[in-house]
Amino acid sequence: MNRPQRSDINRWKTARRLLAVAIPYLLLSTAQAADHVSLERDGARHHLDGKVVVEGQDGSLLFMANDSVLWLISKEEQLSRSSDDESFKWLDDEQLEKRLLKQLPVGFKIHRTAHYLIVYNTSPAYAAWCGSLYERLYRAFFGFWKKNGIELEEPDHRLVAIVFRDKGSYAQYARRDLGDATSGIIGYYNILSNRVVMYDLTGVNALARPGRRITSARQINQILMQPAAERTVATIVHEATHQLSYNSGLQIRLGGNPFWLSEGLAMFFESPDLKSSRGWRGIGNVNSVQLLQFRKHLRERAPDRISELLRRDAEFRQADAAQRAYADAWALTYFLLKTRKQQFVQYIKTLAETPPLGEPSEEEREAQFRDIFGVELEEMDTELIRYMRRLR
Ligand SMILES: [Zn+2]
Repeated sequence: MNRPQRSDINRWKTARRLLAVAIPYLLLSTAQAADHVSLERDGARHHLDGKVVVEGQDGSLLFMANDSVLWLISKEEQLSRSSDDESFKWLDDEQLEKRLLKQLPVGFKIHRTAHYLIVYNTSPAYAAWCGSLYERLYRAFFGFWKKNGIELEEPDHRLVAIVFRDKGSYAQYARRDLGDATSGIIGYYNILSNRVVMYDLTGVNALARPGRRITSARQINQILMQPAAERTVATIVHEATHQLSYNSGLQIRLGGNPFWLSEGLAMFFESPDLKSSRGWRGIGNVNSVQLLQFRKHLRERAPDRISELLRRDAEFRQADAAQRAYADAWALTYFLLKTRKQQFVQYIKTLAETPPLGEPSEEEREAQFRDIFGVELEEMDTELIRYMRRLR
């Protein structure tokens, strides 16, 4: 599975579009009054209820709709806009379910868990399997950060995951988010729609016998616990981790998040633990796939590698450089969490204070890091390499 060909391409496209919208003064909703906007886009009219997150000097808006979809709306697209005294409220589950079903082809159903709405047209057993995997990740994610000094806020609405029955129908839907890059991407998190989108993996790479009917979580586990499926399952856990990061306050959607950190965090959590039905022992295990990649590129590693990662995201989007960038991002995240936990936590907290669209410059990105870790980056890199050489 080639990482760079995943959702992150989409994230980047989004960020680029944002910059074109112009960054302006900030108007972060404090009183959380409800705002309403009507707009016309591609010939269709939309009426949105939600709240303005950022307003540009040019009249453009970053708007959070009440289904947690973020909209970037140019001045030209806006037909009308109003606010009222009622306070902002998310759609309740029934309303959200109704909206989701309306947006998808006929035949989708909803599986509701404590924190998720799994919208699916594959087998109910698979939807339930996903729901249980995601709930375990959810508990492990909040538990991990609490144990490590970050008290996150649990989302006050359910998170949405869409599961298509097969690759074909998934690809058709994904095209609108990913363009033509869908073929190698088996699941993604869309930072604007706030949804994870994927398809039934039991059919992937001939893991299951053709025609075999899947009716139980045990069968699904049997199929997906094969070594050939490890990376496949890791991908959907990876994407769900992005979603959790952005819905818990650990990271801010469209905030100043360096790529290496967002991806490093997702890779830190991605190894699933399918054997355990209750816990999640996989967090913080050595990601052997990434470690191998890291070592492969050691000989060509420049002494200012950390500075490069801190400053620029470009490599993550280049097909020939991304694999290495991801491995280095995992290694840096792992190393910092294992050897400088307190500072790392402080660093994440600082970044989470960057408001949406408040894109820091390259110099600021490096300075933020230096200020907190207080170390020469080249010295840190020497230590990182030594640490990674010893890792098993
Ligand atoms: Zn990712």
